Amino acid sequence: MGIEAAISAEGFLTTQLKRVINWSRRNSLWPMPFATACCGIELMATASSRYDLARFGAEVMRFSPRQSDLLIVAGRISIKTMPVLQRIYQQMTEPKWVISMGACASTGGVFDTYAVVQGCDQFIPVDVYVPGCPPRPEQLIEGVMAIQRIIDQEGIPPKGPDGRRVPLGIALQPTHVPSAQPVPLGLG
Ligand code: SF4
Repeated sequence: MGIEAAISAEGFLTTQLKRVINWSRRNSLWPMPFATACCGIELMATASSRYDLARFGAEVMRFSPRQSDLLIVAGRISIKTMPVLQRIYQQMTEPKWVISMGACASTGGVFDTYAVVQGCDQFIPVDVYVPGCPPRPEQLIEGVMAIQRIIDQEGIPPKGPDGRRVPLGIALQPTHVPSAQPVPLGLG
């Protein structure tokens, strides 16, 4: 990283406290997975060795909202489930961020029915929308990186005059080009 060389030469570093806090915060996101359907499988794959979410410091999935600062909504949310999701969001520690993963979480997807919420952003503030049905792990990683960029630039998320969280509402573009299938597996 070069930091060891700088410390051994100079013996100290100067920076701003804000930068150190943002740097540590962006590299230690603890996701709260709220996976209700098939997108959850891609979320699990993202944490696997093949995609290695640990490279971004975000592999420590917590199942306790009080230990989490990144809510990943993966899958469709029924009307009955929404109060549970809201309760989990409220119990998470501040500052916190939200990724809506996949068409169902963001819009209800193909489930245009009375029982399915047509976008979780109607009930909780969503910062990054990850497109796809399902999104590939690379796309979810792009979403995590978008959150990291926000933390780098802004630090804590903004709040409105009423003290309520302002959602950042960043919609990722589907940039991933699929590889030819099947992808040969190998150890190399
Ligand atoms: S977006 Fe597609 S893959 Fe994800 S939960 Fe909905 S139907 Fe399943």
